[in-house]
Amino acid sequence: MTVAPLAETGRAPAPLGLPRTLTPSKISAFTSCPLAFRFSVIERLPEPPSLPAVRGTLVHRALQLLFTYAEEGDRDRERAGQLLEEAFRELSSSDSELAALGLDADGSEALLRQAGILLDRYFEIEDPNSVRPAGLELDLSVEVDGLVLRGIIDRLDVLPDGRFAVVDYKTGRAPRAEQARSRLSGVQLYALLCEEVLGQRPAAVRLIYLRDRVVISAEPSDMSMRGVLQRAGAVWKAIERACEQADFRPSPSPLCSWCGYRRYCPAVGGDPDGPR
Ligand code: SF4
Repeated sequence: MTVAPLAETGRAPAPLGLPRTLTPSKISAFTSCPLAFRFSVIERLPEPPSLPAVRGTLVHRALQLLFTYAEEGDRDRERAGQLLEEAFRELSSSDSELAALGLDADGSEALLRQAGILLDRYFEIEDPNSVRPAGLELDLSVEVDGLVLRGIIDRLDVLPDGRFAVVDYKTGRAPRAEQARSRLSGVQLYALLCEEVLGQRPAAVRLIYLRDRVVISAEPSDMSMRGVLQRAGAVWKAIERACEQADFRPSPSPLCSWCGYRRYCPAVGGDPDGPR
């Protein structure tokens, strides 16, 4: 495989297959680095297992189990801790990313401790007994002008007035104030999916940054819904063009330090033709 653009090779590369759907994470991946998007979404190359990603999966699953199995009034920190251990057992299956980390007993204990701290912070942010979830890990998709938009919503709440609120948990660092708006665009897409599929625009979208105990929220509006659609359409066109020309350029940034595809990336000295 070569990632050199047409101008550098002198011959037209074969077009690449388009992804079937566009999701908030694909939009974010493509706009952050088209080449990393190609490796991940188009070629589906597995990323090396990552501790922060596994920690995030673990905490998401523990919170999902909390709202699934603990009745209102029983959703306390102790129960959440039991369900964290349950989530850990589930995710320890042989072919999981957690298993691929190959943690020993001390490593597993450290992971559970770090995940537990994120759960502590969750309980500082909100009381889960005051939450009425209408859906958990809700998988919604809709076709708009031939483009299939899809999203899996961590939690869809019913507010006291009967309207919906979209909630997305984040386990990484909270963005700086000037980046907050762009981070909301993913959850705004979830709001659009709710409106199209469930027939009701959510009253609020909320990003809960557990690690920093920060909540960023917004009220979806006609303007934000139009903006989400326009952005998704523009990104999709750029992906179509990149696939047609097999031209996905690297976009070096501080995120390169955490990129799982460095060994294939020419921008950081990797070999794009190296063994997969
Ligand atoms: S190392 Fe950086 S430039 Fe290269 S693919 Fe990864 S994110 Fe993109």
